[in-house]
Amino acid sequence: MTPKEQLIARALDAGFAMARIAAVGPIEAQGHYEAWLEAGRHGDMAWLASPKHRARRADPSLLVPGIRSVLSVALCYLPEADEARSLRLGRIARYAAGEDYHRVMKDKLLALETWIRTELFPGSGSLWYADTGAILERGWAERAGIGWVGKHSGVLSPAIGSWFLLGQILLDRELEPDAPVGKDHCGTCTRCLDACPTRAIVAPYQVDARLCISYLTIEHKGVVPRELRAPIGDWLFGCDLCLDACPWNRFAPPAREARLHARELDGWTLERFLGLTEAGFFELFAESPIRRADREGFVRNVCIVLGNRRDDRAVPALARTLEHDVSPLVRLHAAWALGRIGGTAARAALARAATREHDTQVHDEIRHSLSEAAA
Ligand code: SF4
Ligand code: SF4
Repeated sequence: MTPKEQLIARALDAGFAMARIAAVGPIEAQGHYEAWLEAGRHGDMAWLASPKHRARRADPSLLVPGIRSVLSVALCYLPEADEARSLRLGRIARYAAGEDYHRVMKDKLLALETWIRTELFPGSGSLWYADTGAILERGWAERAGIGWVGKHSGVLSPAIGSWFLLGQILLDRELEPDAPVGKDHCGTCTRCLDACPTRAIVAPYQVDARLCISYLTIEHKGVVPRELRAPIGDWLFGCDLCLDACPWNRFAPPAREARLHARELDGWTLERFLGLTEAGFFELFAESPIRRADREGFVRNVCIVLGNRRDDRAVPALARTLEHDVSPLVRLHAAWALGRIGGTAARAALARAATREHDTQVHDEIRHSLSEAAA
C-alpha cells in the first residue's frame, strides 16, 4: 500500500466514516469567511476575527511549517431519536447528546497523528484539529471531496449526509490529493432555509450567527433578544432543524462511536435544572459539550424553554428562581418565562419580585412581563 492508502485505511479503522486528502494552496472559502466576519455575523465570537486567528486561517504554514497536505475526516454522530427525553428535558442538539465530541475526536486524531509521526513518516511535522483552532475546516473538507458546503453553510456528503463532525490533520508531507465533489447538489432545494425558525440563514450559504439558535443557546453569554426567545421553542442547547430538514440526510449512517450515544440524565427535569449550582452544573456536565454554555447560560435556556411550554406547573420553580438565583441574567429570563405563562400565581410572583429586585435591567423585564402576562 502507498503511504496515502495506509493513512486512509488507518483513519477508517479508527471509526471515521470518511478520510480524504486536500493539497495545500489558497482556499476559495477564505473570501467567503472574511466577508462573513466583515458583516459582523459572528456575533460575540470575537476570537474568530482576531488578527492572529485570521492570519493563521489564511496561511496554514504558520501552524505547520512546510505544510503540504491536509487530511479531513468525518465522524458520524447520529444517535437514536429519544422523544421521551426531549419531552422531559427540552431538545438538545444531537451532537451534544453524548460525551463531548472534542474529547472523542482528540483521542482518535491524537492516536492517528502519533502513528503518522512515529511509523508512517518518522520525524514528520503535523498538527490535529477538531473545531479547536484557526483553520477553515469546511473549506479543507470541501476541497478534499468530503462533500460540498450546503445552503445552511454546513458540509454535506452525497454518501453520508451531514450528521457528521469534522476533524483535520495538517501534514508536512505531500500526498496525492482527492478530487472535490465538484458540484453543489443543493440545486433548487430551500428546505433548510424554510425550516429555520429565526431566519438565521439570511440567504443561501449565509448564516447570521446572531440569529442562530445554536449560537444563542451556546456561545452567546448575555440576554437573548426578546423577539428571538419564542422562536427558540424547545431548544435547550443547540438546534438541529436545518439538518433535520435536509433530504440528503436520508443517507446518514448512525453513530458507530458509543461515546457519542445519548446520555440518559435520569431523574432530571427542567424544573430541577433551575436549581443547579455552579459546582453542580460542572459536575453534571463534566464530560458533555453542554458545559460550554456555563451554568448561567444553561439555566437561562431552561427558563426560555419553560416559558415557551407555557405549563403553569413550572410557576413555583420559576418563582423561586426569580427570587433567589444569584445571576441577574437568569432572573431576567425567569421573569420573562413567568410573564409568558401568565395566570394568577405567575403574576403574583412577578409583582412580589418587582418590590425587591435591585437590578435595573431585571426590574424592567419584570415590569414588561407583568404588563404582558395574561391574568
Ligand atoms: S441551527 Fe437552527 S437556528 Fe441555526 S440556522 Fe439551523 S435551523 Fe436555523
Ligand atoms: S436542505 Fe436542501 S438547500 Fe439545505 S443544505 Fe440540504 S440540500 Fe442544500
